[in-house]
Amino acid sequence: MTKAELHDRLRFYKDLGVDEIYRRENVGQAILSPVIDVPRVAIPPATITEGVPLPAASVALPSLAPEGDTLEKIRQDIGDDCRRCRLCEGRAKIVFGSGNEKSGLVFVGEGPGADEDAQGLPFVGRAGQLLTQMIENTASKEGIPIKRPDVYICNVVKCRPPENRAPLPDEMEICGQFLFRQLMAIRPKAICAMGSTAAKAVLGTKEGVTKLRGKWHKWRDIPVMVTYHPSYLLRAYNVEAKREAWEDLKKVLHFVYD
Ligand code: URA
Repeated sequence: MTKAELHDRLRFYKDLGVDEIYRRENVGQAILSPVIDVPRVAIPPATITEGVPLPAASVALPSLAPEGDTLEKIRQDIGDDCRRCRLCEGRAKIVFGSGNEKSGLVFVGEGPGADEDAQGLPFVGRAGQLLTQMIENTASKEGIPIKRPDVYICNVVKCRPPENRAPLPDEMEICGQFLFRQLMAIRPKAICAMGSTAAKAVLGTKEGVTKLRGKWHKWRDIPVMVTYHPSYLLRAYNVEAKREAWEDLKKVLHFVYD
């Protein structure tokens, strides 16, 4: 890792609220689990200031998913009044996620809309109602005994973007780390990324949903199915997209629950 990369990484951790890192001799991997039995060193403000020399010693960066991470811990780390990005300015409630924390299936959307912002819960507006119907009707038709509360649902960003615009890259990057921790804590059998923001965040690709959907991809070692966002499916002319989304969902449900 170059000095500049290390600098960026430290600043990034600082933005996330990580004030301490650990020092150890051997840093063979880019992302390491936290080291328990070595002295803790606070990140001195100087290390994240442009132009200031970095410490000579090797620094092991903390894993983005601390060992024993839980959804409760992640929620606590976000805090009640997260101000890590500009989305805090217009939000009413942080929308962390809902559903079965031990689910084999996690749906990832883009970010809260007005209804979600007001209630603090993901996918409770029109798009959410469609998602519920899609999950429950498809499962029922396919003989899979699950309801919406059996899966876990969350978003890339936890605060509502103004005018429901798409989240900006820095907002996705900052909040995406909490999404990744959620995914690692749940360790589902599959992830369903709905829409281009979710696909971009989870797969790190710029490829559009039309190209990505219907096929299996991977986030770390977890299979990822990309499909259309329910809001897109609400548009009347998207009959063919609806059919395709149903096909995608069938694949995911059978993969997870058969
Ligand atoms: N759209 C999303 O992407 N997420 C929600 O929670 C609601 C609408």
